[in-house]
Amino acid sequence: MHPNIKKVLVSEEAIQTRCAELGKQITEDYRNLGKVPVVVSVLKGSVPFLVNLIKYIDLDIEFDFMAVSSYEGTESIGDVKIIMDLNRSIKGDHILMVEDIVDTGRTLKEVTKLMFNKGAESVKIVSLLDKPSRRVIDITADYVGFTIPNEFVVGFGLDFDEKYRNLPYVGVLKDECYQ
Ligand code: 5GP
Repeated sequence: MHPNIKKVLVSEEAIQTRCAELGKQITEDYRNLGKVPVVVSVLKGSVPFLVNLIKYIDLDIEFDFMAVSSYEGTESIGDVKIIMDLNRSIKGDHILMVEDIVDTGRTLKEVTKLMFNKGAESVKIVSLLDKPSRRVIDITADYVGFTIPNEFVVGFGLDFDEKYRNLPYVGVLKDECYQ
């Protein structure tokens, strides 16, 4: 374990198992609807989750990336900025947004709105983590990997000042790391 990690909340094994379950569920759901989604990954935090999840989606998907920003340090600044937009038209497409975590819900609300403004036919959300106790906007992801308590987490894509994204698990930093 990384020396700055106080505790592991979600293990590497648990993430892999859950990715397989979610991928299977997503495959079944879209197959039943007769649709193939365009998978949109929100940079940078969702990349490790995207990479693992898509191995288990047995459909001819395409994927693209966008980047937004809402956090500085450990506090949400409540202002979602589009830093990098999609590279393609999504008019008439069925979008599956991949997120690292739903916290206040502001990012998801804004990004979902943006997808519809760009002409998406449907938008679904899959998030590795969900922190429902922090919700400000009434929004729920269609697929959630793990519901976690109100703690600031790092690892598996999630950062503290751009570090710890490469940890293969989700954990909580030692208090001294914030000083
Ligand atoms: P929301 O708009 O739902 O408040 O926040 C979404 C974004 O805030 C996430 O995509 C993530 O980048 C960041 N975020 C929220 N909670 C945490 C957390 O516990 N740890 C880290 N590292 N980032 C978080």
